Amino acid sequence: MLNTTFPIPADKVVLSAPIIAHDNKALAEMLKIPIDSHGFFLEAHVKLRPVEFATDGIYLAGTAQGPKNIEESVSHAQAAAAKALIPLILGYVESEPIVGVVDPEVCVGCEFCVDVCQFGAVSMEEVESKELKFLKELKAKINPALCKGCGTCSSECQVDAIRMRHFTDDQILAMVHSALEEPATTSDPFIIAFLCNWCSYAGADNAGVSRFQQPSNIRNIRVMCTGRIDMIHILEALAGGADGVLVMGCHPGDCHYIAGNLRAELRVKFLTEVLSAIGLEPERLRLEWVSASEGKKFEEVVKEFVATIRKLGPSPHRKIPVAKAIGE
Ligand code: SF4
Ligand code: SF4
Repeated sequence: MLNTTFPIPADKVVLSAPIIAHDNKALAEMLKIPIDSHGFFLEAHVKLRPVEFATDGIYLAGTAQGPKNIEESVSHAQAAAAKALIPLILGYVESEPIVGVVDPEVCVGCEFCVDVCQFGAVSMEEVESKELKFLKELKAKINPALCKGCGTCSSECQVDAIRMRHFTDDQILAMVHSALEEPATTSDPFIIAFLCNWCSYAGADNAGVSRFQQPSNIRNIRVMCTGRIDMIHILEALAGGADGVLVMGCHPGDCHYIAGNLRAELRVKFLTEVLSAIGLEPERLRLEWVSASEGKKFEEVVKEFVATIRKLGPSPHRKIPVAKAIGE
C-alpha cells in the first residue's frame, strides 16, 4: 500500500500453502450438487444448513467446502455425521405435503423441469408410447421424498404437466378471483400482491405487528415461493381488473428454495415487456425483495407502489366505467 520496501525482523518465516479445490465438476454434475466459483462444494445454507446440500441425503464436511484447519474439519465432520444419523435412527424421512406431481399424458419430455429443480427431485424415465407400442418416450417423474414443494417446475412447465398437490393453480386462481370481486365497489387503486411464504409474507406480518401505517389497497396472496407464481396468475389478476400487481420474495441468496426467486425475476422481466407490447403500463407490475425482518421496507414498498398506481390511474381492465373508478 505504501509502495515502499522495508525489512521486518523475524526469526522464522512460514509460508501458508493455498488449498486448491480438486476438479469437482463431474461429481457435482453426477450428484446434482452445486460448487462455488473456486470449485469447492456449496452447502444448502451458510447459517441454517451448513453441513448438507439442498438435495436430501448428501452431506459435506471439511475442505470439500473450502479451506479449513484440522480442528474445524473435525467439528464439521462430526456435525455432518450427526445430521446423517437422524434419518438412519428414525428409519424414515418425512416428505413435504405440497409436492409436484407430473401428468405423464401431458408431459412432452422437454426436461426443462429437471434443469429448474434445485433439489434433484425430477428425473426422466422411459415409458412405452401409447400410440406406437414399439417406441419409448421420455416423461418427467418427481420423487416426493426429495421434492420441497417450491412449485417452480410447475410454473415453468410450458404445457402445464405439473400439478402442485394441495397448492394447485385452481386454488391460487380462486384467491385471485375472490380478491378481484372488490374493485367493482371501490374507486381507489386496487393491487394484488403475491408474497412468498418464508420472507415477504412474514415481512408483511412484521409490518402489521410493528403497527407501520400503510394504505389498505393491497390484497395479499401467499405462495410457497415466488418461483411458484405463474405468468397466468399475474395476467389473470391484471386482466381481471387489478390496477397493479406486486410480486415480493426473499432477497437473492436467501431463497428458501435456493433460486425460485431468480426464476420469478426472469418471469416478471419478461411479463413487463409483454405488458408494454399490449399497451398496458409496465409500471403496473413490480418485483421487490422483502425479508421477514423488513416490515419497514414492506410498508415503504406498499406506499410507493400505491402512489405510482394512483398516478397511472385505473386499469383499462377495470370492470366498472373509468369515470366511476376515479370518483368523478
Ligand atoms: S417441463 Fe413439463 S413437459 Fe417438460 S419434462 Fe417437465 S413435466 Fe414434462
Ligand atoms: S416443486 Fe420445487 S422441489 Fe419439487 S420438483 Fe418442482 S422444482 Fe423441484
